[in-house]
Order: sequence, then C-alpha cells, then structure tokens
Amino acid sequence: MERTFLMIKPDGVQRGLVGEIVRRFETKGFTLVGMKLMAVSRELAEGHYDVHKDKPFFKGLVEFIVSSPVVAMVWEGEGVVAGARTLIGATNPLTAAPGTIRGDFGMDVGRNLIHGSDAVETATREISLWFKEEELTSWTPSLMSWIKE
Ligand code: ADP
Repeated sequence: MERTFLMIKPDGVQRGLVGEIVRRFETKGFTLVGMKLMAVSRELAEGHYDVHKDKPFFKGLVEFIVSSPVVAMVWEGEGVVAGARTLIGATNPLTAAPGTIRGDFGMDVGRNLIHGSDAVETATREISLWFKEEELTSWTPSLMSWIKE
C-alpha cells in the first residue's frame, strides 16, 4: 500500500493547528501509520531538504525547521502521495486554493505549515530518513469498507 511522509512544520505546531491538520487527512479516509512530535536536528533538516541545498532560501529553511518542534507522520492509502499534496495545496499559501491547508491557514511561502512528499520515490526516501521501521504500524480501520469500495 502506498505511503507518504508528512511533517507539520514549526508554524503549524506553534499555531495550534496540529489537530485541524491531522483531522483533514483522517476524514479524507487516509490511514495514519506513524506519528511523533520531535525537535529536529540540523543534520536531519539538511538531509531532508538536500535537494534545495543550492537555493537561496535553504539556510533560512533549515533554521526554521530546527527552531521549534515539528510533527512527523506517515500516512497510508491508495494514491496518498498525490492525494495529500492536493489537500496541502500550492507551495505559496497566497496562491494556494481555498479549502487546502495552505490556502486556508497561510500567507507566506516561508510559513506554509506542512511538508508532503512530492512523489512515491521521495516518500520512500523521506520515510526511511525520519522513521525506524518499528515506529510504523500497519492496520486497517474497521470502517474502511464505508470509505472505499
Ligand atoms: P513544497 O513544500 O510545496 O514541496 P518545495 O519543495 O519547492 O515546495 O520547497 C520546499 C520548501 O521550501 C517549501 O515548502 C517552503 O517552505 C520553502 N520555500 C520554497 N520556496 C521558497 C522561497 N522562494 N522562499 C522561502 N522559502 C521557500
């Protein structure tokens, strides 16, 4: 089953939006298989955003991620990588569609509340970077047959 890595960034945690954000993925029908509140090391933040290491915003982005706790999560479901990106919305919250997390709660690209893996291969890399296998629990919600045929 497809899995994705989601991280509620320091702004989402500080603003008390953890419950609201988790609720959106739960009510959509995706399955939570791992979750932890954590302070992020500089090494992990830099490894996670390695693809952006030459961008002008890289240093500030790493500083932001290590500045305050984040909530790291793994979610499971058919099409969850793209589906979660749809719920999250465009990178810039100012132009993100209303109804998306970034569209509803943000206005600054440097404070866009949540990260979501952008492809299945990226998700695999990010999940193994952030979680040990034993921190993830596979289970089937008993109401799944009322969500998916
Ligand atoms: P996404 O998080 O939507 O996948 P990217 O992978 O392009 O977006 O960028 C990673 C993160 O870097 C963004 O979520 C945002 O926090 C930050 N970022 C991207 N572009 C900028 C920018 N121009 N200025 C500041 N931060 C940026």
